[in-house]
Amino acid sequence: MTRRISGFTPSGVLHLGNYLGAIRPIVDGTGHTDTVVFISDLHALTLDHDPALVRERTLEFATLLLAAGADPDRHLFLVQSHVPEHAELHYLLECTTGYGEAQRMIQFKEKSRRQEQIRMSLLTYPILMAADILLYDADEVPVGDDQSQHVELARDVAYRFNTRYGQTFTVPRAVHPPVGARIMDLTAPTTKMSKSASSVAGSLRLADDPDTLRRKVMRAVTDDGRDVVYDPDRRPGVANLLDILAGCTGTDPVGLATGFDSYGQLKRAVADAVVETLGPLRKRYLELSDDPAHVRGVLRTGAARAREIAQRKVRTAKQAIGLLPA
Ligand code: ATP
Ligand code: MG
Repeated sequence: MTRRISGFTPSGVLHLGNYLGAIRPIVDGTGHTDTVVFISDLHALTLDHDPALVRERTLEFATLLLAAGADPDRHLFLVQSHVPEHAELHYLLECTTGYGEAQRMIQFKEKSRRQEQIRMSLLTYPILMAADILLYDADEVPVGDDQSQHVELARDVAYRFNTRYGQTFTVPRAVHPPVGARIMDLTAPTTKMSKSASSVAGSLRLADDPDTLRRKVMRAVTDDGRDVVYDPDRRPGVANLLDILAGCTGTDPVGLATGFDSYGQLKRAVADAVVETLGPLRKRYLELSDDPAHVRGVLRTGAARAREIAQRKVRTAKQAIGLLPA
């Protein structure tokens, strides 16, 4: 069976793009894959952060992922910091990665440009990501283009470790979502909807109530012209609405475009589809939010299961790299 791994960093608020692009494919899993789903809280410490907010969002992410259908019986489901082997393997992989390799990462260059104080962890973050992946012998890592280079690094590091110290890790590969699976910001449709960068109005948040979702869709930026056509380059706003509708209803955006005479009509259909898609998720989210102790129990069990696998892998890696067993 192919194993996939998907991480969610509590660096902002989960949105429809995360759901359609990452969460739903996990939940819909056809049985050909087993998936590790984790909340990458350690990654949220690589940029300026508010401690209380990271803690709060970690619980909120866990609640939303469960509400969306993440199933701890079917998936390994854990918070990264609850499994200390992530950090332990990170160190061993730091000893397998060149400084130049880490420094070359485009995300590091981009994110560090925007920081007054650059944390060391921002530089080493892709190596922690490699540890996340290699710890569980994941075969596939679903990522957007922005993360492809990090999966390449994980491949290089795994291959190098195996070659130098003996077969230890599965060499993972990146898998990319189909074109059109990227949901764009409603108020700035040439940039993607993002947890950390989108405005409140630009992002359809998973926990938004139906009225809020409708209002945001109705106020979404559209383009000059009036006819509804699917043209992401020249009509990004309308194309995004069609992508959202297609994503929610499992249809094709090009075919959908012919069915609408006005932007207003399209927006109403999108609002209905979004509310219908997220309604059951929100209902379950509100129920689970009333019982945070239950969610935390699920996380404890998930971490214990993950640790059994992670401890074995770290033991093998330590032995291979030359550490004396205790
Ligand atoms: P951040 O702003 O912190 O980078 P993000 O919204 O980009 O947050 P990530 O944590 O980077 O979210 O990604 C989590 C998962 O969601 C990844 O699998 C990513 O490909 C997917 N994803 C993120 N944004 C979108 C989007 N706008 N449309 C479709 N999929 C998305
Ligand atoms: Mg991102």
